[in-house]
Amino acid sequence: MIRDFVYLKAGSVKEALDLLDKHKDDYKIICGGQSLLILMRQGLVAPENLIDIKGMKELSYIKFNSKTGLRIGATTIHREIEKSSVIKKHYPVLVDMEKNLASIQTRNWGTIGGNLAHADPAGDPGALLMALNARVSMANKERVRALLLEEFFVDFFETALEEGELLLEVQVPPVPPRTATAYEKFNIIKNDQGIVSVAASLTLNEDGLRCKDARLVLGGSAPVPLRAKEAEAMLKGRKVTEGLLEQVGSRASEEADPVADIHASEGYRRHLVKALTKRMVKRAWEHARTLAH
Ligand SMILES: Cc1cc2nc3c(=O)[nH]c(=O)nc-3n(C[C@H](O)[C@H](O)[C@H](O)COP(=O)(O)OP(=O)(O)OC[C@H]3O[C@@H](n4cnc5c(N)ncnc54)[C@H](O)[C@@H]3O)c2cc1C
Repeated sequence: MIRDFVYLKAGSVKEALDLLDKHKDDYKIICGGQSLLILMRQGLVAPENLIDIKGMKELSYIKFNSKTGLRIGATTIHREIEKSSVIKKHYPVLVDMEKNLASIQTRNWGTIGGNLAHADPAGDPGALLMALNARVSMANKERVRALLLEEFFVDFFETALEEGELLLEVQVPPVPPRTATAYEKFNIIKNDQGIVSVAASLTLNEDGLRCKDARLVLGGSAPVPLRAKEAEAMLKGRKVTEGLLEQVGSRASEEADPVADIHASEGYRRHLVKALTKRMVKRAWEHARTLAH
């Protein structure tokens, strides 16, 4: 049973920020409701005021500039990202990720802003966008600020959003030359939330023979999407071989901090992290090699 609430509709960012400020003490923002309504139905969240931003056109956009990168407004639905030709051209891995996120019905209603603000550590966009070095911007009535996604995720279902703040957009920098990114989740039901996921982004040296930079992010493996920094360091300056993949996968699984729950034990999650890390690093390496030659 959902507890009674006052329903408030915001048609613009200004209206939303005014409402957030006015009801600072007890409110919840709702956009697609794909995550929030489940929590409300379970009685886990019972806001006095529900501030609806669905359909706010001002924050529904996909913009790309080759110098500054990609900007996706917070109320953009998953399906628009999946269908975007500009994203397919410059960040194809984002399109592939979206194709496997939930059902078409959920993708047609749920938004990128709602997904990130919900901060489920097993959410797909968080891990992948972190591998792409993305930032998010947010505003309250007084100011606008931006944070790296790594700083935005604070704990299980907790972000750095402060009271009165609205998430505005996701900003993804241009992809450096000779860089490839791979992402995959392991799930039992197709298109369901992953039990564990891994995103790997590799940049090769100019000669295309070694890794110059690596970003490895583990989803569903810690309270927040987690950068496996020791495993990343093992890749820098190295050529990827089967032996190195084995070592990097093992290190990533040690760096993970998974829980045991109804979906998987801690040990099984570590096993999945190792397997997926090896697979994603190999995939990114092989793709990057084709870009370098
Ligand atoms: C059946 C099902 C399957 C799913 N499978 C997957 C999956 O495979 N992978 C995956 O990643 N996700 C999955 N999800 C989760 C879901 O797709 C996302 O979490 C969804 O994108 C949330 O967006 P929303 O607009 O519906 O957010 P809402 O449910 O409206 O809000 C979610 C949270 O974000 C806050 N919020 C929303 N917008 C803003 C904003 N602009 N500023 C500040 N706070 C905001 C709300 O207050 C709330 O706390 C699934 C959901 C369902 C129902």
